[in-house]
Amino acid sequence: MSGRTRIGVYPGTFDPITLGHLDIIRRGAHLVDRLVIGVTTNPSKSPMFTVEERLAMVRREVADIDHIEVVEFDSLLMDFAEGQGASLILRGLRAVADFEYEYQMAGMNQQLNDRIETVFLMADVCLQPIASRLVKEIARYGGSIDKFVTPAVAADVTAKLGSSK
Ligand code: ADP
Repeated sequence: MSGRTRIGVYPGTFDPITLGHLDIIRRGAHLVDRLVIGVTTNPSKSPMFTVEERLAMVRREVADIDHIEVVEFDSLLMDFAEGQGASLILRGLRAVADFEYEYQMAGMNQQLNDRIETVFLMADVCLQPIASRLVKEIARYGGSIDKFVTPAVAADVTAKLGSSK
């Protein structure tokens, strides 16, 4: 083993960050010396939260985990990862639904930059069905999202929905 620092990038929209994301972050943090969470601006997804709000939320939620940095990015993922000095990209894999998209993206990213490996992690089985999209949908219809996000994130979602009425 060389003595170099192993850096990983975990990219996502985090709109909002869920307990599924946090589980992947904790697992991923064990695999690298430094984990960079890349928060995409991703206007094509019309996020509920602005990128500034998502950055602040993610930073607050990972404050107790060591060797983590939270960074905004709006470039090609492989360029962002290269710029961060990363050798790994971490992605969470849920069920079959994620597979097709993730498989294609990892394959194309490999063509773009073969020095950076994509590594897939599975969240705790109880957390696997959680998706930001469904969290927002449940909240919009007045359902409880307490099992899927932290209390602080649940409060952020409630406040955002209240302010947009
Ligand atoms: P994107 O917009 O790139 O899909 P997301 O914020 O939805 O970003 O998710 C970032 C990553 O986290 C993706 O790899 C996604 O598959 C993974 N992920 C999200 N929720 C879960 C979960 N409940 N379990 C495992 N992985 C998850």
